[in-house]
Amino acid sequence: MKQKLEGQIAIVTGASSGIGAGVAKEMAKEGATVVVNFPVASTKNMAQVVVDEIVANGGRAVAYECDVSKEDQVKKMFTDIVSTFGTVDILVNNAGLQKDAPFTEMTLDQWNFVLGVNLTGQFLCAREAIKEFLRRGVNGKSKSAGKIICMSSVHEVIPWAGHANYAASKGGVMLMMKTIAQEFAPMKIRINSIAPGAIATPINHDAWDTAAHLQNLLKLIPQKRIGQVEDIGKAAVWLASDDADYVNGTTIFVDGGMTLYPGFEGNG
Ligand code: NAD
Repeated sequence: MKQKLEGQIAIVTGASSGIGAGVAKEMAKEGATVVVNFPVASTKNMAQVVVDEIVANGGRAVAYECDVSKEDQVKKMFTDIVSTFGTVDILVNNAGLQKDAPFTEMTLDQWNFVLGVNLTGQFLCAREAIKEFLRRGVNGKSKSAGKIICMSSVHEVIPWAGHANYAASKGGVMLMMKTIAQEFAPMKIRINSIAPGAIATPINHDAWDTAAHLQNLLKLIPQKRIGQVEDIGKAAVWLASDDADYVNGTTIFVDGGMTLYPGFEGNG
């Protein structure tokens, strides 16, 4: 059976851990050559573990260091990947982080750091990807000239006290995604977001590391289980594949129902 992403080149940012690693592995299973991006030398070994697992399972992957909040590094990553592999077909804008603080104590550095990675990083990578998609056009590997998946969050719609920088970054991702989807749909470029709910990864370790913490978290999830990175990886494969060819400019919530106002489960 034909693999869904056969022969396509996918850059997954922040792929040395968590959701990015999960997406990289699922895309590789479907035939994509995956660029496992990591931000700094100290995370290189983790990225290499992801690459080694993909290769051991018969897939293709390389690790690539780039801080997505730095314009020069993002430009160089796309130039290097295009010169090595010929093009880029899929960008998964996944890199993201939190620097939480009560609003009146939030420093400008905390604000700028989160916006710099979570929103500006997605802008910089999307811009370079779209330039390459436009240069190449539709090439027979897919009905699209290129696909971008922005990793958003349920916090693109759910306010989150103590996390104003993070929620603002994801709200920003939502309208950036929709705006560029509108701009480039006529050129056969598809751009969508995935909004994960609570997925067990290092970013939210404190929310599920003990039975008591997990119990508390499950109150927010109607499906009563925490998500796994494979839940997001499979959604990303589908969104990047031609099975989703008519899906453009939307956010797919993969959240076990977290956005269903779980406080109203017992009649409010
Ligand atoms: P994670 O901490 O495991 O992954 C984040 C990755 O981003 C790390 O690998 C990190 O090295 C990388 N990164 C950070 N700064 C970077 C930079 N400047 N350049 C390149 N890479 C950088 O956490 P995760 O849960 O896997 O998060 C992945 C994405 O999913 C994030 O955008 C996060 O906001 C989003 N998300 C996660 C959850 C969840 O419940 N885990 C929920 C909603 C959204």
